Amino acid sequence: MIIKIVAAFLVFMVVMGAIQKWLNPNHKTPLDRIRGAKLPRPRKCKSCGRFLLGSDDCRCKDR
Ligand SMILES: [Zn+2]
Repeated sequence: MIIKIVAAFLVFMVVMGAIQKWLNPNHKTPLDRIRGAKLPRPRKCKSCGRFLLGSDDCRCKDR
């Protein structure tokens, strides 16, 4: 029963987002905010090409 309510709520949210997007394409829906909150693009070290985690610089230059 609760699952049905949750599912109906999710469908309602998606439909509302679709309607808002249809009425105002520039409007940011909560779903868009979630999508936009994804991690930024992985950075790569310019010297060795390894992916950098967080804001740390690659250690290849220290060696
Ligand atoms: Zn490097």
